[in-house]
Amino acid sequence: MKLRNRIHLYSTLLMLVILVVLTVVIYYSFSSLAYSTEVDELDSVSEALRSTFTANETVNPSDILRAYMPVSGLVKVIDQEGQSLETVQSPDITTQFPVESGEDSGTMMVDGERFAYTTAPLIWSDGTIAELLIAKSLREVSDNLETLRLVLAAAVLLAMIPVIISGAVLAGVVTKPIAALTETMKNIQQSGNFQKLPVAEQSNDELKQMGLTFNDMMALLEENYSKQEEFVSNASHELKTPLTIIGSYARLLERQGLDDEAVAKESITAIRAETDRMKEMIEQLLLIARRNETAPEFEKVELGTFMEETIAAFNQSYDREFILKVESEPFIVLTDAVKFKQLLYILLDNARKYSSDRIEIIAKMDETAMVQIRDYGDGIPKESLPYVFDRFYRVDKARARETGGFGLGLSLAAHLAELLKLKLEIESIEQLGTTVSVIFSSDFNVPEIKSKQEGS
Ligand code: ATP
Ligand code: MG
Repeated sequence: MKLRNRIHLYSTLLMLVILVVLTVVIYYSFSSLAYSTEVDELDSVSEALRSTFTANETVNPSDILRAYMPVSGLVKVIDQEGQSLETVQSPDITTQFPVESGEDSGTMMVDGERFAYTTAPLIWSDGTIAELLIAKSLREVSDNLETLRLVLAAAVLLAMIPVIISGAVLAGVVTKPIAALTETMKNIQQSGNFQKLPVAEQSNDELKQMGLTFNDMMALLEENYSKQEEFVSNASHELKTPLTIIGSYARLLERQGLDDEAVAKESITAIRAETDRMKEMIEQLLLIARRNETAPEFEKVELGTFMEETIAAFNQSYDREFILKVESEPFIVLTDAVKFKQLLYILLDNARKYSSDRIEIIAKMDETAMVQIRDYGDGIPKESLPYVFDRFYRVDKARARETGGFGLGLSLAAHLAELLKLKLEIESIEQLGTTVSVIFSSDFNVPEIKSKQEGS
């Protein structure tokens, strides 16, 4: 069954049960009150009759009985053997009222008609002890109760109309946004577009929250999807250039390379250079694609020594001047040494590529540990600074191609910094140089070890 119908059915049924129980309780309380009022009345008649009877011994007993006989009722005097000594009854009572009755007073059904009755002992005119029975037909009360039953049943039925309507409205209110959500999801599935749900501004209920959450999720998916799309298109675009070069050199080889050794050499060198470039790029792309695979393994690293090793490796590999200055006492940070080195390589590689003067590396401890890499090279124009962390972004495409860049280094660096909980800051002045600061978060300094080392 649909949620909508279920809510409707259950709310209606619940209301029906409540109403029926309520009316049944009301009906039975009222009817028992009505009956007991009648019985109480008979009790007082009986009392009055007996006192009159004792006081007036000369009057004909049956006259006294007749005087106290209720409308539509009867009065009987019964001896101890159960024989009727005297009976007076109104002409509309045709039933034979039984002599034996269980209780002293109450109501009973006789021939389908309800009677109230009461019994009491009485000293009869001949001096014997007899029983006085007064009974009264409850025809009128029963008629009233029947009317009450009809009125109550009609009231329940009438009350059910708004209940049924409000149940349907309630079910609609609850299920409409869910249905809309499902509909939107279906549309998204069919069209492959990212659609949003219309959300009522004024309300602030769970349904609005659900709609907002769904829209946020869609926005995130859409953003990721377009990022992915952009990445794929950028990557294919970047791969197209080396492939075009390789293709054209291959054709050149095909046409004249086999005869002309110089052309053959040139072509092969160019093809090799381009395949190397492609290989490097694909390696970087793979790094980016796999970047979520390994979580960093944080360990304690003495920053000064670590920097010395790293810079020594660069001094070995390149014919350039890398100058390291460790401006603090030995200090230890928490980081993943492999990933941190990868990050430094990216930054040092940029400093090397985009400058020709010396490169200074400063490791220091101010409020928090930091490493700065400073070059005196081309610098980055102010308007390009916000984009340098974007994938495939290069300040000057011609310049970058000369230096063999893809524009992927800094985007990878930003990701590594995020993993290692580091902050990257770039300050740059065009034609003067660039300083990149790698700043450790204060939780990742380990000051107590620092002081221990100072002591030793
Ligand atoms: P890749 O690092 O993928 O080989 P890349 O060096 O061009 O290529 P990024 O490292 O992401 O890419 O750098 C993006 C751009 O920012 C570079 O192309 C360059 O123009 C500029 N840039 C980065 N670092 C420096 C720097 N130290 N000095 C001058 N320009 C820089
Ligand atoms: Mg780079």
